Amino acid sequence: MWNRGTLSGFAKEHLRDRFLVVVSNREPYAHYRSGGSIRVERGGGGLTTVLDTVMQAIGGVWVAWGSGNADWEVTDSEGKIAVPPHKPSYTLKRVRLTQEEVEHYYHGFSNRFFWPFFHNMQDRVHFLEKDWEYYKEANFRFAEAILSEVRGHRSPVVWIQDYHLSCVPRMVRERRPDAILSIFWHIPWPFYDIFRTAPCRRELLKSLLCCNLIGLQTPSDRDHFLEAVREELGLPIDYSTHVVEGDHPTQVQNFSASIDTEVWMHLATRPEIDEEMVRLRQHLGLKSTGFLGVGVDRLEYTKGLLNRFEAIDIFLKNDPQYCGKFTFLQIAPPTRTAMPEYQAYGEQVKKKVEQINAKYGFDRWKPIELLPVQIGAEELAVYYRAADLAIISSFADGMNLVAKEFVASQVDEKGVLLLSQFAGAAHEMKGALLIDPYNTEQFAKAIKLSLEMPLSDKKARIQEMQTHLKANNVYKWVGDQLLENTKFFSPRGD
Ligand code: UDP
Repeated sequence: MWNRGTLSGFAKEHLRDRFLVVVSNREPYAHYRSGGSIRVERGGGGLTTVLDTVMQAIGGVWVAWGSGNADWEVTDSEGKIAVPPHKPSYTLKRVRLTQEEVEHYYHGFSNRFFWPFFHNMQDRVHFLEKDWEYYKEANFRFAEAILSEVRGHRSPVVWIQDYHLSCVPRMVRERRPDAILSIFWHIPWPFYDIFRTAPCRRELLKSLLCCNLIGLQTPSDRDHFLEAVREELGLPIDYSTHVVEGDHPTQVQNFSASIDTEVWMHLATRPEIDEEMVRLRQHLGLKSTGFLGVGVDRLEYTKGLLNRFEAIDIFLKNDPQYCGKFTFLQIAPPTRTAMPEYQAYGEQVKKKVEQINAKYGFDRWKPIELLPVQIGAEELAVYYRAADLAIISSFADGMNLVAKEFVASQVDEKGVLLLSQFAGAAHEMKGALLIDPYNTEQFAKAIKLSLEMPLSDKKARIQEMQTHLKANNVYKWVGDQLLENTKFFSPRGD
């Protein structure tokens, strides 16, 4: 079983003399100025927390975009700062990007091409040559930062995160043939018939294949990637080991991103939580016998929020006996707010909720409570545990960690997970009720089914998924990839 201790021990033992560089677009700590003082904020998300744990255990450098408005006031002349602030144990090296670069590399190419394209939402895709050029320029900045850090270290281990940095492998490989390079692709990899329409497809594949290891979320993402390599580059592939024989062998493998399962179980059993759950129901005007549904998603068009609310609308229309007895709490923190398309989506979501609430609401009761704010993990655990069902209705999703957090927090084993068949998590979460977000009538029936499911059935489903999550936590996700990296170490130690 992987946990924080075994991962730290493993990393120390196997990577001891290796220089490790983690690279991501977002930084683990950002500095902000408010008034006369500077405060440090921890990067959100479980993944950042776990990578931070690894880095704290073994040291090294984390290269990331310095996005805080006071980031450059606290770094040295090379853009570096020792972190964590309270107990420095590794180096954060910040990459400086201009406002124009952020616009074209991040909002433009990353968020208007890569994100919708790989989530198969082709009507939202914008491919602009100018964005692509800026993207490569920004990737070059990251590569330069990596290269300056690994100078003087033999066969450094460089672990790149995600689609923002897809050109970095080639840029590093050209200058450091000895580096052990890997990338983890957090978003889905589409079918070849879709992938073949990407103008940058060959350049992208060739860069990724400069890695020794390419990690994807699910076996189908892995297979789609291999299909793209076969069709576009015609390279030999060993399908029994998933190794591509290019200039050097590249291992392509699936690793399911996961959560710190124990932490969520612990958060959901805090002594104060019973009282907090009672207060939540009171706040929602929901009796102790009433049903609570929960959704936790960034206000993001891939998450299928409009279809989810439509399914709730159909459910209440078909089964009006649940009016006043079922409330759906939707947490939806705004994301990418500088982009007009995200602002427009936020408005659509708000309007849809208002319409449904006006149609069915009475007295103090509303069917949908929309909270468009970022909530901390402690409070999320209250919602997860209190809920009788959680809905994940993504049209496409690399993994969806909320699905796993909900299951881990279900200490009373009474909640049902309604999970989109198009989320990576559907491949693993065998006790979920799988839904098709496009088929809102069936979706509505699944809501009813989950509320009326016998308790013994609910328990069996949650138990099965919790057992899986205890063994397949985020420490395993990191550990498996580090372990895979060690296979590329030569016996002489370089
Ligand atoms: N999250 C959070 N506060 C919120 C909403 C979400 O901390 O108000 C966290 C949530 O706990 C989860 C992550 O954001 O860890 C969302 O990850 P997921 O894989 O579900 O979706 P993504 O946002 O990466 O597409």
